[in-house]
Amino acid sequence: MVHPNEIKVAGLASLRRIFEVDLALLMEAYGRLLKNRRLDKPLIVDRDTWVVVGGVEVLEALDQLSAHKAPVLLVGQDQLVIERLSGEKLTLNDLIEEHRTKRSRLSLRDFRIEYLFDVPSIDVPLDDLCESTRLDRRSLRVYDDTLSLLVENWPTPLVKLKSFSSDGRSVYAKLESFNPLSNSVKDRIGWSMIMDALSRGALGDFLYEATSTNTGIALTSIANVLGRRVKLFIPKTIQKASDIFLKVLDAEVIRVPVSLTVEAISEVDALARRDCAVHLNQFENDANFKVHLKYTARELDQQLESVGVKPDYIIGGLGTSGHISAISLYFKGKYGDGVKIFGVQPAQNQVIPGIRRIESGMKWIHMVKLDGIIDITLDEAIEGAIEVARREGLLIGLSAGAVFKAFKRLSPEKGNVVLVFPDSGYKYAEQFEDYFKRIERPE
Ligand code: PLP
Repeated sequence: MVHPNEIKVAGLASLRRIFEVDLALLMEAYGRLLKNRRLDKPLIVDRDTWVVVGGVEVLEALDQLSAHKAPVLLVGQDQLVIERLSGEKLTLNDLIEEHRTKRSRLSLRDFRIEYLFDVPSIDVPLDDLCESTRLDRRSLRVYDDTLSLLVENWPTPLVKLKSFSSDGRSVYAKLESFNPLSNSVKDRIGWSMIMDALSRGALGDFLYEATSTNTGIALTSIANVLGRRVKLFIPKTIQKASDIFLKVLDAEVIRVPVSLTVEAISEVDALARRDCAVHLNQFENDANFKVHLKYTARELDQQLESVGVKPDYIIGGLGTSGHISAISLYFKGKYGDGVKIFGVQPAQNQVIPGIRRIESGMKWIHMVKLDGIIDITLDEAIEGAIEVARREGLLIGLSAGAVFKAFKRLSPEKGNVVLVFPDSGYKYAEQFEDYFKRIERPE
């Protein structure tokens, strides 16, 4: 005889599952639970092995609903009659052994399981089985509009790169690709330059900007939300895919016969003046540097502090020099020379989208302290991106690959290293394709 007081509440993790649940049965149980929000029968569980023999589909449904507990009726094996469809009698231990040797779950359809007792009725609210964590909007990631999505999403993640860390060394990557508009660090400056101009009543209806893609996408996305038009000047050396993304966003794109974005500035300035458009100019606009000081650098500091880490090395790419200059001002201010800051630039005559050589002219980097500049070739940057993708599963962009390669060049054996990865690899399919063609068919 089974007594109802043998009903217990058990943690889902303590229950053993040897039966596969048919998806249709799971869906039905899930729908019933969601509708009634109550359980009217306990799961039937063998008291010696904790194998669930009855209500397996309810257990799976509870799991899908993120319940942590379930009411279970503990029974002995002598209270169960189990047979195959062929009529062959079995014990639960036989089934457990079959499950073990097959190394896969058994189909419930192949067996008949009868109980030598009546299953008692219960009335347990589903909510009692789930942890009552009422999450707020912020942690549930609900946003009122696209611009809130951008700003309230900060900080971007900081992730430890386990495969490049060792006993004495921890390597962290700050993933700027988690910015939602251009999927790059440039969302931050697109937002800050536009907000700054708006607050001064200087935004206007037309924005002109020289960009290697990311700033263009960020500006156009925000301009679309605010009902402004954008004309972008992109060097001919930049991947063709950018034109497609920008067409989707409805920016006007002019390909300019220069290899570096910064070389187009004076022309963009003149055209903006002629057409009464606003040239925000990421290369000179202090809203660029300031957004990294107020957000990028501070959030990185808070993230590191949350895990008790003091950075020894921070490595970042040099484009306008906005983000690494702000990071340098912040962290040198806090730790002095206890933290070494390195900038990464393309080697002579190399084009790596998003970064350029310091002598091509940068504003903020000359106002802060840098411990070194590391030259990286395009192939090294691509190889860096490939290594990170294959070791860490992160498909990073080419300037991020260059940052990673610079870390490999420095190769500090001890200490905490932070790498700032400006974007992901998806925009650079053309460069990856070209690289694979070259190495697979060398001249
Ligand atoms: N990497 C990528 C992909 C970029 O788009 C940029 C900026 O254009 C950078 C790196 C450099 O960032 P910053 O302009 O803050 O120096």
